[in-house]
Order: sequence, then structure tokens, then C-alpha cells
Amino acid sequence: MEKNLLPDQTQVQDYKVVIDTTLDLQTLVNNLPVLMAQLDAGNRFLFANTAFIEWFKTPSISGIRYKTLEEVLGTPVFKALQPQLESVLKGQKQSFEFTFSNQEQKIHSATVTLIPYSFKEDQVTSYLLIIQDITHQKEIETAVKLQSAALEAAANGIVITDQNGSIVWANHAVSKMTCYTLDELIGQNPRTLKSGKHDDSFYQSMWNTISMRKIWQGEVINRRKDGSLYVEEMTITPIRNGDLHRITHYIAVKQDITQRKRAEEALKESENRYRALVENQGEGAAIVDKALRFEYANLAVENILGIPVKEIIGKSLRDFLPVDQKNQIENQLATRKAGKTSTYELTLFQMDGTRRTVLITATPRFDNSGEYSGSFAIFRDITERKEIEVKLRYQSAHDVLTHLFNRLYFEEEMQRLEHSRVTPVSIIVVDIDSLKIVNDSKGHLTGDELIKSVAQVLKQSFRTEDMVARIGGDEFAILLPQTDQQELQKSIERLKNNLKKANRTNTHPPISISIGGATAEANEPLIDVFKLADERMYTDKKSRRRRE
Ligand code: GH3
Ligand code: MG
Repeated sequence: MEKNLLPDQTQVQDYKVVIDTTLDLQTLVNNLPVLMAQLDAGNRFLFANTAFIEWFKTPSISGIRYKTLEEVLGTPVFKALQPQLESVLKGQKQSFEFTFSNQEQKIHSATVTLIPYSFKEDQVTSYLLIIQDITHQKEIETAVKLQSAALEAAANGIVITDQNGSIVWANHAVSKMTCYTLDELIGQNPRTLKSGKHDDSFYQSMWNTISMRKIWQGEVINRRKDGSLYVEEMTITPIRNGDLHRITHYIAVKQDITQRKRAEEALKESENRYRALVENQGEGAAIVDKALRFEYANLAVENILGIPVKEIIGKSLRDFLPVDQKNQIENQLATRKAGKTSTYELTLFQMDGTRRTVLITATPRFDNSGEYSGSFAIFRDITERKEIEVKLRYQSAHDVLTHLFNRLYFEEEMQRLEHSRVTPVSIIVVDIDSLKIVNDSKGHLTGDELIKSVAQVLKQSFRTEDMVARIGGDEFAILLPQTDQQELQKSIERLKNNLKKANRTNTHPPISISIGGATAEANEPLIDVFKLADERMYTDKKSRRRRE
């Protein structure tokens, strides 16, 4: 006995009658969204539903009858289906995936089911061919696969929880971040990671935010499986169920920022260290813009400029400069613009008019486009050092008792003059007569007074361009540039006259000195001229003694 779902044309001659009796069933089959057909053992169509006809763009239901499967599907497809067709005709139901292309050459994925349908003496006489187009599902499946691969591969940790907070999915990055395997995480509540570093109100406010369907963002300190702590930056997004507005899941995207935090803290610490170093160092440190306006100044700059830092900021270095320093600063500015660092001395005026000498080391700074934008400057107050230097220089060149130049300076000056080839040059040598006797009879201090009086007379007697020096205990020398013999004699006369005047007014014993002078008319060595003057001084002394 054959069981037929659909009429078999080979057996039922009056097809219409059968169709009438099975009308409801056929309407149902025709309206099914799957492609359905009945074929005989020779793979000829007995029936095909509307979906089948439309999809394969074949003639009407009646037109397809007796057409072969090969004609409708094309030889290549038919051949590809051979093994399954042979199996169904042997009575074995077949179900498999297959790829078709229809008349529009569109590729479609489908599940194909072949069901033995009618039998005669255990031979299959017809079978059903059911094709379900699964292209769309396949596309969704591919897209989903791609997206989950992307989520899986993401460097950020991604955790999906259900509405109760149980983890339903997490990617590999979460496992790496927390040291828990994915198996250990799935089904757990993220509170497993709680570090105890946040109070309840922290988590309460997080839950309040996300349960109100808002996104929560923040930093959380969590604990790994091995007990160590880490900081994560997390964004939790509630996922709603379409129109129902009910939260079904939460997606948390996490990033381990422990290293970044550590680097930030280290940077802050090092910045504080440098700031403290710069703020408190004894040298003045400042940053000026290209108009020399102070953008930054440390405490030591206060002492140099004499006003508080907050008043310094915005003022220009030029505001502190005396007129004679303006050129210096403009030259320095040009050096800086040329990209060079330099160290130079500058005299500044404090607001109350006090002068300070500073040694400045300035380094240019440039903006991102390489444009000169100002300088970094270190200020060293060298006022005291300069004063000591001046004093030392004076002391090294002067005699303490008379304040005249000393022997060392006299000799240097003689050399300088010799090199300058300024002629004629005259030299006078003077020696006090019988100072020892004064010392012995009136005391050493009186002797000193005598030396000072002679120094005084010498200073009065010569021009400013002449140089008077004390070159020994009671011995003096005078360098007279551009002085010939005649002028020399006049100078000696002037000296003798002045001495006479001094002897008339002075209270201490009359001063007697021996004088010798010599002139270098050509480029003869000045040391020889000096010796000659010295000899003449002795000659003078001797003749003076003879007269006494
Ligand atoms: P003469 O007439 O030959 O020049 O004899 P003099 O006594 O001046 O002796 P001389 O020039 O040979 O020597 C210089 C003397 O001057 C030696 C020293 O006793 C004295 N004398 C040197 N320096 C000083 C000084 O700084 N102060 C005083 N009071 N006496 C000095
Ligand atoms: Mg003497």
C-alpha cells in the first residue's frame, strides 16, 4: 500500500479530483517558506510548490511536471547531487548543506533534505526534495563569527554579564588581566575581583548609574587571582532588550592602566623633585619669553631683583637694566635667536636703585615649529665677588702705605709702554735721603709719615697720564709717556718746587730727596732708561752728601 502526501501523476489519472480533496494541504504546502518538490524514481518532477517555482524561475506548477531535475537545476548541480539522490532512492533520508546558484546567478546556501516518499514492493517510487535557503542565516553567522573574533582579539578586556551580573562571556584579555581562566570567570560575578580598596558606596553608585540605563565610566582597583592589585579603567554599558527597555546584559570594557598610573606617578614625583630642586636652589632660575618677559622665576631671583616672584612675572629683564647695559642685552638676544647658549655679566638695578652684578647663563628654547620662543636663564649674583675682585686687583697693584702703584705694577706698566712704542718716554727715580736717621731718631711712624708726604708731593707734581709708583722702602719711580728731555727737566723742577713748598708747611723734619731722570728718545729698552735714571739719582745723592 502506498502512502501519498501529494498526488502522484503516474498513479492517479484524475489529478484534479485528488487535488480537490487535498486542497487545504496543497495551499499549506504552497505557502510554506521552504522550497518543496516531489520527484519520481527517474528524478522527474511530479510536483513543486510556489516557493520552488519562484526561486528556480521555472514554469508554473503544471509546467514543471515531468521536467527532469537535471533540466531544472542544471547538469553540474545535478551531478553534484548524484550520491545523495542515489541514497534516497535506496530509501535513506538525506540532509546536508549545499550551495546553489539560481537564474540570477546568486549564490545561495541551503539545507537540502531528501525524504523517500512512496514505495512499491520496497522500491522507492518517489521522494521529496526540500530546500531551505539559509543564506541570510549564514551571513549573520559569518558576521557574528567575525565580530566575536574581533572582540576575542581585542586588547581591551571585554566582559558581558547578564542582568544579575553573572559573567556570560569574557575575552582572552580579561583572563590575562585577572589571571583567572575564562572557565573560572564564566558564571561568576565580577565582585570576585573586588580588592577591598573601594567602599560600598563606590559600587552602589556604579550600580545606580547602570541600572538607570546610563553608561558608567571610572577607575577601579581590582585584585587578580594571585592576590596582586591592578588598576583598570572601565566603561560599563547596559544593553536593553529592543522595545521592552528591560536591561538584559551589561558590557564592560576594561583596560589595565596600572603601568600608566605608575608612570604618571613617577612622572609627577620626578616633576616635584625637579620643581623643589629649581625652586630652592641658591642660583636664580628663570624662564623668559622672546621679549625677555619673565614667565617663571624661582625664589633666588627674588633676592637678585629685590621684589617678590609674583611681581617679577610679566616684567621684562629690560625693566631692570641701566642704560649702559642695553647694548649688551640686545647682543645677547641675537646670540640666543641664533640658537646659542652663552654666559655673560650684567649689571642690574633693583627697584630701590641698588646695583647688582649678575652672571647669567642663558639657553635658547624653541617651540614645536622650531621658532625661537625665549630662554632658560640661570642668574648668579656675583656682586660681592666682583667687589672682592676689584679690591684684590687694587691691592695687587697698589702700595698700602701711600696708595701709589707698587713695584709689580710699575714693571708691568713699563713693559706695556715699551710694547706700545710711544716715544719719547721718560723715567724719574726718587729716593728719600737719610730715612734711616729719621726712623732712628724720630721713630718708624714718623718715617712712614715722611714717605707719605713724599708720595703726596709726587702725586701733585705729575700729570694724570704719568704713573707714580713706590718701588721700594723709600724709593719711587715715575713713568712719563710722551715726555722728552726738556719736558723731563721741567717736571723735575716742578717736583723740586713742590717739595720746597711742602717743606715750608710741613710740621715734620724737612724732606730731602735725590732725583734722577732719563729719557728714551728712540726704541731703546726702558729697563736701560730706568737704570740710567737710577744711576743719576745716586749721583745726585752723592753730590748732595758732599754738599752737606
Ligand atoms: P740714603 O740717604 O742713602 O738713601 O739713606 P737712607 O737712610 O734713606 O737709607 P736707604 O735709602 O739706603 O734705605 C731705605 C731705608 O728706609 C731703610 C729702612 O730703614 C727705611 N725704610 C724702608 N721702608 C720703610 C718704611 O716703610 N717705613 C719706614 N719708616 N722706613 C722705611
Ligand atoms: Mg734713602
